[in-house]
Amino acid sequence: MSYYSPSIEKLIESFEKLPSIGSKTAARLAFYILDASEEETNEFISAIVNAKKNLKYCSKCYNISDTDPCMICSNPKRDQSIICVVEDVRDIIAMERTHEFKGVYHVLHGSISPMNGVGPDDIRIKELLSRIMDGGIKEIILATNPRVEGEATAMYISKLVKPLGIKVTRIAHGIPVGGDLEYTDEVTLSKALEGRREL
Ligand SMILES: [Zn+2]
Repeated sequence: MSYYSPSIEKLIESFEKLPSIGSKTAARLAFYILDASEEETNEFISAIVNAKKNLKYCSKCYNISDTDPCMICSNPKRDQSIICVVEDVRDIIAMERTHEFKGVYHVLHGSISPMNGVGPDDIRIKELLSRIMDGGIKEIILATNPRVEGEATAMYISKLVKPLGIKVTRIAHGIPVGGDLEYTDEVTLSKALEGRREL
């Protein structure tokens, strides 16, 4: 049972839903808001409302963007026939920093994880398939994280897409640049061996 009045309880509950906020911090934030001036409170509320209003998901690739389609999807210089599949919006930023990739993206917003109750229908795999069905796709690059969930997700998508006659590739994992074989763990080393290429 709660010792707080319902309005405060509701406010604390809302804060508790935020990542890495425990019940004590949630209560502290709720009481901070109650003590704040009306001006301060309104500023805070409109910052949230504006961010939510202006930012949306690109209806093609599910990147977060101020425009729909996003800057990458609407750029005529990008090759629309190559889709790089990533788990998170932040992975696009990482890929873009390399200046190597000239295709477009598809953000899954997660990875398949039976342990956490996340199935294929909970991430944007259906949307990827419907993009492929629309035609014009030559290659799907699976750039999910080299963890158990990322590997499972890559395998799942590969099994669905390959029969459609589309080239499916997986990014290579291996020894970091500047790394030493001697100090590389065996999982990384075996992945590096698996992903070897002809010179
Ligand atoms: Zn997009």
